[in-house]
Amino acid sequence: MIRAYRFRLRPTVRQAQALAEMLRDHCSLYNGALQERRDAYRHTSKTTVRYGDQSVQLKEIRGFDPERQGRWSFSSQQATLRRLDKAFAAFFRRVKAGQTPGYPRFKGVGHFDAVTFPKDGDGCRWDSTPHDAQTRVRLQGVGHVRVHQHRPVRGRVKTVSVKREGRNWYVVLACDQVPAEPLPAPGSIVGIDMGVTHFLTTSNGEEIANPRFVEASAHDLAEAQRHLATFPKRTRRRTKKHRAAARKVAKLHAKIRRQRLDHHHKAALDLVRRHDVIGCERLNTAGMTKAPAPKPDPEQPGGFLPNGAAAKAGLHRSILDAGWGIFFGILAQKAESAARRVIPVDARNTSRTCPECGHVAKENRVTQAKFECTACGFLANADHVGALNVLSRAGLVLCDAA
Ligand SMILES: [Zn+2]
Repeated sequence: MIRAYRFRLRPTVRQAQALAEMLRDHCSLYNGALQERRDAYRHTSKTTVRYGDQSVQLKEIRGFDPERQGRWSFSSQQATLRRLDKAFAAFFRRVKAGQTPGYPRFKGVGHFDAVTFPKDGDGCRWDSTPHDAQTRVRLQGVGHVRVHQHRPVRGRVKTVSVKREGRNWYVVLACDQVPAEPLPAPGSIVGIDMGVTHFLTTSNGEEIANPRFVEASAHDLAEAQRHLATFPKRTRRRTKKHRAAARKVAKLHAKIRRQRLDHHHKAALDLVRRHDVIGCERLNTAGMTKAPAPKPDPEQPGGFLPNGAAAKAGLHRSILDAGWGIFFGILAQKAESAARRVIPVDARNTSRTCPECGHVAKENRVTQAKFECTACGFLANADHVGALNVLSRAGLVLCDAA
């Protein structure tokens, strides 16, 4: 199994300064390499500079500027060049597909916030078994930085990344050969329905609420954003207050992200502990975030019939979807570790199908919350009905596979 671990770094003032310089210099390397590709593309009759060409120049660049570029790990600089290469590959892929993507952009120092070391032991060293019980990570040009390691790291550390979020620093480890930790089998199968009023409902009728605290933070965020908007958008020099307002917005964003992730982890762990097989809906992210096609009105040339775009937008479907996608990712990971099975099923009509008689009708769903079958009169909570249908479809998948 592959797993990522993320820990807070506790750098000294000196180390924090060095970390910021490391980001700054990797940023200028990134932008310099981007400039070279741009110039080549424009002036030298559309030739393309490739990663290999830029990588061989690294040695020269380091020798030319030992103070700034020569100080950092060669491999992490290669990783930064590869990151640019990826941006270009994505750009050209989209051009080829007939889309109109934006050309890769220069990154401002404040927006370049991660450096990756592709191999533990090369420019960095993860050290979790020191003498003084304090985990540290050694980073070339920075030193031995203290790590707040709140959980054991299993498996083999493959890559080490350093990330800045607001004023905080984190280290992210990507590990492979992480042993699975199977849980005792509870002998249970369940279906889940993701919802708007509740985060999710199970086929047993249990509800997991949406995280309340996220709403509270969202309120703070809206206020902080309003405050930030009172400052002029483009200024030569930002004032101290302007910077503080921007920092507050970034901080709240990070807080909400953390809270939401925490909620996802707890909900997923709870499901995985109690059930062997978990049926869930298969997300169609591309189809859901795309606005429905306009429907021309045959009666009135140039006019359009309602196409359901407003209803979709009203539910914030795309936003919810993004969150659910992350949740399903976490669920799949925990399920794999515990030797559980997650079965994604086609979720079409799950909220319109009667679990008793199988009658499918839009009218079955009376309101957002209430389900009443127009054929047999079966009455239930609508989200619960959705979960029951997901369960029976997951059961069919199991049956077909047996
Ligand atoms: Zn029915």
